[in-house]
Amino acid sequence: MDKLLDVLLLGRRRFGALGPRSRAVLSQLPLNLTLLLVFVVLAFADPHALTLPPFLSGQIVALVILLLCAVVPWGRLPEWCVLAIPLLDFVAVGLVRTGATGVLSGLGLLAVFPVMWLAGSGRRLRLVVALCTFASLVMVWTPLLAIGGSAPHTFVAELVVPLMLVSVAVAMSVMTLSGIAQQQRVEELLARSETRQRLLDTVLETVDVGVLVIDDAGTDVFMNSRQRQLYLTALPPGAARAPESELLVYRDGTDELVPVEERPMGRANAGEELNHEMYRLGRGPEARTVSISARAFRDATGELAGTVLACTDVTEVVAAVRARDSFLAAMSHEFRTPLTSLLGYAELLLEDESLSTSARSDLRVMSRNARHLRKMVDDILAASVEGSSPDVRRTELDLAELVRQAAVSAAPDAESRGIAVRIEDDGELPVVGDKTGIVRILDNLVSNALKYSESGALVTLTTERDGWWAVCRVRDEGIGIPPEDLERIFTRFQRSSAALRSGIPGTGLGLALAHEVATQHGGRLECTSEVGVGSVFTLRLPLARAGVSPNQSTAAEE
Ligand code: ADP
Repeated sequence: MDKLLDVLLLGRRRFGALGPRSRAVLSQLPLNLTLLLVFVVLAFADPHALTLPPFLSGQIVALVILLLCAVVPWGRLPEWCVLAIPLLDFVAVGLVRTGATGVLSGLGLLAVFPVMWLAGSGRRLRLVVALCTFASLVMVWTPLLAIGGSAPHTFVAELVVPLMLVSVAVAMSVMTLSGIAQQQRVEELLARSETRQRLLDTVLETVDVGVLVIDDAGTDVFMNSRQRQLYLTALPPGAARAPESELLVYRDGTDELVPVEERPMGRANAGEELNHEMYRLGRGPEARTVSISARAFRDATGELAGTVLACTDVTEVVAAVRARDSFLAAMSHEFRTPLTSLLGYAELLLEDESLSTSARSDLRVMSRNARHLRKMVDDILAASVEGSSPDVRRTELDLAELVRQAAVSAAPDAESRGIAVRIEDDGELPVVGDKTGIVRILDNLVSNALKYSESGALVTLTTERDGWWAVCRVRDEGIGIPPEDLERIFTRFQRSSAALRSGIPGTGLGLALAHEVATQHGGRLECTSEVGVGSVFTLRLPLARAGVSPNQSTAAEE
C-alpha cells in the first residue's frame, strides 16, 4: 500500500517496479474515481437517476472490479489473466452509460480507461484492436438489442464511440510498443557496455603494466593493482600515503630526485605526451626501474578529459642489459692488450727481409685476421661503454683528409683481399667534431666495403660538398643488402640475411655505433643497396666555416 501511495502521491517509484496486484489497482483506480465523480454530479443533477437499476449496478460492478484487483493474487496467475479486468470495465461503463441516458451524455467515453489499459499492456496491436472493437461494440449495441426493435441506422449511429475508442487504442498501442522496443535497445546497450567494462577491468588487472588515469583536474580516477604496487614502492619509508611531491622518483641511473614540475604525472597532466621515459621509484633493494608513457584523452565533444599513464617495470631488463654491457666491456678490454701485441709483432716480422714469400703471405693473413678481431673487440668495447661518459672533444677537421687516411689504413687489408680502393676527392671539407668518432665511422664503412666484397672488386671513396653538408660516400661492388634488412642494419647486433648466409664473421655493432656518432654530430648515415650489385653508404656531416658549424651559422643568420 505504501508503494502505491508513493506512486500516486509522489511518483517516486517506477510503475513497472510495483507488484502485479498494485499495478492492477492503480490501473483500475482512475475509472472508479471518475465514476464516483459522475455519481456526485448526478446526485445534484438528477437524484432520481441514481436509483435506476442499470446505473446502480454499473457502479456496483465497478466497485467489485476494484475489489477483484486488490484481492486476486495476480502474481500467481498467468500474466494475461489481468486483461479480464479492463474487459469487465466495459460492462461497468456500459451499465452506467445506459442508466444515465437522457441525463448525462458522453459517458461511453469512460471506456477510454480500459482501452488505455489494454493498449498499454504491450500486447500485439492486432489483439488490442480486436479486443477493444469487440468490447466497445458489445457495450453500445447490447442495450439496443435488449430493448429490441431498434432501426438499423440507430446501430450505425452508435458506432461513433467504438470508432473513437479503437483510434485511441491504436495510437496508444503504437506508442507503447515503440517505447518497449526502445527500452529493450537501451537495456541491450547497457548490458553490452557493462560487459565491455568488465572486460576492460579484467584486462587492466591482468596486464603486468601499471595504469593510472587522471582527470583534467589532476585527480586520480583509476589505478590498477600493478600501479598501486609501484606507488607503494615510491612512498617514503614508513609512509602509508604521500602527495606526488614527496614520492621518491629518481632519474634513472642517478640518485637525483626529479623536481616536481618535471615529474611524469604533472607533465602528462599539462598535456605533454611521454614516450618510454625511464625513472627509478623508491630506494634500496626494493627500488624499481620503470618506463613511463602517457597520452591525453578527449571526451565526445573533443575537450581534454584526462590522461592515461602506463608504467612498465623494466628493473630486470635494465639489470640484464647492464650486466651484459659490463661483461662485454670487461671481456673486450682483456682481449685488446694481447691482440695489440700480436698485431705489433706480426707487423714487425713482416719487415724482416729474410722471410720467404709463403711465410710472408701467411703472416699477412694472420695480421689481417688479428686486425679484424681487434676491430670487433673495439666495437664491442665502444658499444658497452657508450653513454656512460661520452668524453667528446670537438675540433675542426678536414673530412676529405680523414677519408684519405682511412684509405691508407685499409690499404694492407685491401691488398691482401685483392680489392682496389679509389678516392674521388673534391677538395677540403671542414667539419667540427670528435676525431676518434669520425675516424671510427670511416674505418667501419671502408672495412665493411672490403669485408663484404670479393677479390677483384672496386671500392670507391667519394667526398664532396652538398649545400651545408660535407658528404662522404663509400661505394662497393659487394654482396649487397636485401631491402627488408636495410632499416635494421643500423640497430645493434643486427646483421643482414645476406651477411649471415655468406658466413662472413661480424658483430652487427659497427654500423649502429657509426650511426649514433653521426647523429651526435648533427649528421646522418644512410645506405642504399642492391643484392649482388653493391652498396653505397653516405655519411653527411654539417660543414664548418672558419670554425663555425653550419648549424650555428644557420641559427645566427635566421
Ligand atoms: P658487422 O660486424 O656484422 O659487419 P656492422 O654493424 O658493421 O656489423 O654491419 C651491420 C650489417 O650490415 C652487417 O652484418 C652486414 O649484414 C651489413 N653490411 C654493412 N656494410 C655492408 C656492405 N658494405 N655490404 C653489404 N652488407 C653490409
